[in-house]
Amino acid sequence: MRRSGGVRLRIVLVLIVMRQDATPEQVKGVIAAIEARDLSAHAIPGAQRTAIGVTGNKGALEPGVFEALPGVLEAIRVSHPYKLVSREVKPDDSIVRIGDVPVGGPRLVLIGGPCAVESREQMLTVARGIRDAGGHILRGGAFKPRTSPYSFQGLGEEGLRILADARTETGLPVVTEAVDMESLDLVERYADAIQIGARNMQNFSLLKRAGRAKKPVLLKRGLSATLEEFLMSAEYVVSQGNYDVILCERGVRTFSDYSRNTLDLTVVPAVKQISHLPILVDPSHGTGRRDKVAPLSRAAVAVGADGVIIEVHHDPDRALSDGPQSIKPETFAAMVADLRKFAEAAGRRL
Ligand code: PEP
Ligand code: MN
Repeated sequence: MRRSGGVRLRIVLVLIVMRQDATPEQVKGVIAAIEARDLSAHAIPGAQRTAIGVTGNKGALEPGVFEALPGVLEAIRVSHPYKLVSREVKPDDSIVRIGDVPVGGPRLVLIGGPCAVESREQMLTVARGIRDAGGHILRGGAFKPRTSPYSFQGLGEEGLRILADARTETGLPVVTEAVDMESLDLVERYADAIQIGARNMQNFSLLKRAGRAKKPVLLKRGLSATLEEFLMSAEYVVSQGNYDVILCERGVRTFSDYSRNTLDLTVVPAVKQISHLPILVDPSHGTGRRDKVAPLSRAAVAVGADGVIIEVHHDPDRALSDGPQSIKPETFAAMVADLRKFAEAAGRRL
């Protein structure tokens, strides 16, 4: 990052827009020309045409050098700090698949499951409830980032094995959190998507590792992260070559004394405006109160979220973590039925 006269000069990314009739060979030729300059090429196929983002330039890069290449329509500078995740680079919405479930398309996605995997019986009971209610994806933490070192830390690899069994039993894909490099290796092996939690949103080495993973990443917003910081964290993952990133708003810290966090739903239309990435809402952590989960889920759908992630436990009062915000499987089922109407009103379906 260079500074001059108090103005921050950002390293500028060049975006090469290919002609609509450009051939795959021409796209390859442009990528080769980028790599020959020791730069990184990110091909971004779009509905109309392919764009190729260029990163890795240490100083100013003259876009004109690429304009003479066959198949190139234009080469432009992108000056946002977030580049590959911006709509400028990719105008159409990204659809990210968790297992065989598309996230970001016309259908809203419902993720449900316990805060933590506590036992095989608990996870399977809740998983069946999620499936029967019409949920699409299972959640459940095997590695828990807890405020107190004396609180339940999760079952670790055993928890991942249980999640894999819950997937076999229900046919639903699973998402679970990785808290460090070691757990990320394991999560990548067992799960269908890697969750990076709020507390790790700016763990940049973990983000880079997630960017080299072969599974999609569910990135939760940090407790006090600005929108720019949130998108920059997504950029970390994407810049390493993993384009399958799903954002998740989970509430931010405010002076609120009636909820655990303040669910910042304003961020949803803001993200939609400037990024092509899908965004989910987590009203469980966002409110910390189980009676607020259904109303805030409706609100999430109304503002254009691509789905919700909900904590569900068959015996919330005895849950080892986040019981006060967990709902029972039957409440989840009622909520799903109720959300159908709101989805339709928002031009989506469940
Ligand atoms: C979770 O989803 O269980 C979790 C710990 O969420 P967050 O990182 O948003 O606090
Ligand atoms: Mn939780």
